[in-house]
Amino acid sequence: MITIDGSFGEGGGQILRTSLALSLITGKAFRIEKIRAGRRTPGLLRQHLTSVNAAAQVGNAQTSGASIGSTQLTFTPGKTKPGEYHFAIGTAGSTTLVLQTVLPALMIADGQSRLTLEGGTHNPFAPPFEFLEKAFLPLLKRMGAKVEAKLIHYGFYPAGGGKLEVTIHGNSKLAHMDLPERGDIKRRLAKAVLCHLPRNIAERELNIVQKKLSWPKKWHQVETPTNSVAPGNFVSLEVECEQLTEVFTGFGERTIAAEAVADQAALAARRYLASEAAVGEYLADQLLLPMALAGGGSFTTLPPSRHTTTNIEVIKKFLDVSISCQQANNRVWRIEVGQ
Ligand code: AMP
Repeated sequence: MITIDGSFGEGGGQILRTSLALSLITGKAFRIEKIRAGRRTPGLLRQHLTSVNAAAQVGNAQTSGASIGSTQLTFTPGKTKPGEYHFAIGTAGSTTLVLQTVLPALMIADGQSRLTLEGGTHNPFAPPFEFLEKAFLPLLKRMGAKVEAKLIHYGFYPAGGGKLEVTIHGNSKLAHMDLPERGDIKRRLAKAVLCHLPRNIAERELNIVQKKLSWPKKWHQVETPTNSVAPGNFVSLEVECEQLTEVFTGFGERTIAAEAVADQAALAARRYLASEAAVGEYLADQLLLPMALAGGGSFTTLPPSRHTTTNIEVIKKFLDVSISCQQANNRVWRIEVGQ
């Protein structure tokens, strides 16, 4: 039985999700203690419990400690079973993070799966749908996975009510992928999305993008979808390069000014654009697991986040891989995954 210290490094939900994902794949049981000890509300919240239950269902696993607020869990997986699954978080907790938990095992399972996930689709501190669709999944597909995700309803904090449908074709053999550089930038898009909110919010947000990044109006887009149960807003900045697309997001909240929402996204995009790294902060921690499963890969990135350094250690608990992280220059690091 592998023992995981949930308070280690970054001390958040990713330690749990990576452990669940790799337990399903390796068949190794694990026990995690001090779950999310680094967070203000430690233990399993609804999103994490849904991830545990989703992994248990997909992998015919035995669990103990799977309840709200629990700070310890034992997970003993059985055989992964592809099929039709419906996971409802019941709050605005992130659907993309629940997907992150079961996707790796279902990608390589021997058959197709269709998932319906309900909860939040655009949450602060989690990958929004655009990031999944434009940044993460295309790279997974390049490695050999066959996955399609559709946004059916938007789900914003605090109301939730979002819905994703995901088809995972299974039987994928992941191949090594190297991303030493991003290549030329082919397209930039600044998207302000408003559900049930006045349009001038988007105009104020895009003005900030124009001011902070000098992105002209022809790169701006306002979307006003109505498939959301409650109001919501976000700004998504997409940088499409030859080798990959990066997505930077600012999330609207009741107490945050439109200008600050756009500023959050613009700052992250500016930081990426000022560097020559191929991969941004969030993609970096999320690419480690598929690359480790592929048995290798590499990329250049911004200075590694604590999510990245923590995820490296959790992956090494389950898989016999080496992952090195070296500084190439002031703003660029090189991460190499090998055997
Ligand atoms: P945790 O905080 O441990 O629950 O992990 C959060 C996960 O969400 C990490 O994999 C982050 O890379 C990812 N994440 C957080 N914010 C964003 C964002 N704005 N865009 C993409 N991914 C994100």
